[in-house]
Amino acid sequence: MRFFVLICLTVFVFTFAGCVSDAQSNKHETESPAEQELTETANSDTQTETLIQQEKSILPESESEKTEEEKIPQSFAEKVFLSYKKAYPDKNINYYNNGKDWVISLNNKEFCWADGRLLPKDKAARAADYDPQQIYPYTGKPRNPSEYTKEKIALLRQKGTPEALQKEKPVDESFIVELLGVKNRIITEEKIVKSQLLGHRLNIHKCIKDKITTISNEIESAAKNNEEIANFIKSIHETSGYNWRTIDGTNERRSCHSYGIAIDVLIKNNKKTTYWEWERVWNPDWMLVPQKRLWTPPEAVIKSFEKQGFVWGGTWDEYDTMHFEYRPELIELGKLMQD
Ligand SMILES: [Zn+2]
Repeated sequence: MRFFVLICLTVFVFTFAGCVSDAQSNKHETESPAEQELTETANSDTQTETLIQQEKSILPESESEKTEEEKIPQSFAEKVFLSYKKAYPDKNINYYNNGKDWVISLNNKEFCWADGRLLPKDKAARAADYDPQQIYPYTGKPRNPSEYTKEKIALLRQKGTPEALQKEKPVDESFIVELLGVKNRIITEEKIVKSQLLGHRLNIHKCIKDKITTISNEIESAAKNNEEIANFIKSIHETSGYNWRTIDGTNERRSCHSYGIAIDVLIKNNKKTTYWEWERVWNPDWMLVPQKRLWTPPEAVIKSFEKQGFVWGGTWDEYDTMHFEYRPELIELGKLMQD
């Protein structure tokens, strides 16, 4: 028996990805700090529109004897929690319904799904004070602006404006902080390790080191018989990962680069559209740029990242085609939502 779950994914971005990485002089972070701030704030603002859901959580009696993972997830919250459990099998994650809310425990700390937000129990009653986290089903499907409604275009046009920034609320990051052990800069940097991606140096969270090595080896191997991939490797200017920073005026919001789980692949002399915020500077119709006009890594490269639990920023309405971030829970959620 399935219950009604309405999930309206109007627009999404990503923030806690927020794709603005290191401030080298020749890439998207070349913008001034104020512009960087604008970017991330805009992304997080979108979070409020990301998920609207109605859910019921009564379980059928026949299901009551099963463990949580054996049951068919009924609600979006349940699917999110199952996705986290599947995505991080080495973490101590459990979840249950307390008769009112879905509750997930991580390292014996409990968090509630409250009105589309994943919040510590003591904040759940004040869910409206927070913007939702970027938790959405990732399928890897490219964006398709030709299908955007007028309303969606109008909404996207607001992104990054001072009005949109003013409406922003804080995003509670307690769960991801607990998941990755990234409470503050000192503690985070204890977990940052050196890595290499396609011959370029990269600082990343140690939890993705093996995955980056696997991705790099797989792409290099594929390049031996594929000119497009070989040319892609040659065209890389640099790669960029960990970059700790907080953003003024955004309630200390951090991007996934701050956690060391986001990676940018920067290309030499890239003249194609890559990042929505750069395009927005001169093109008010930035959201309508067709997918095929965006700079895109070879399909096999994207697939290599996805296989290791990374989502690609080129699928976002607020596109960022150089950006990959480790969000295996979103990929699991994408699979669950398709079932
Ligand atoms: Zn990025």
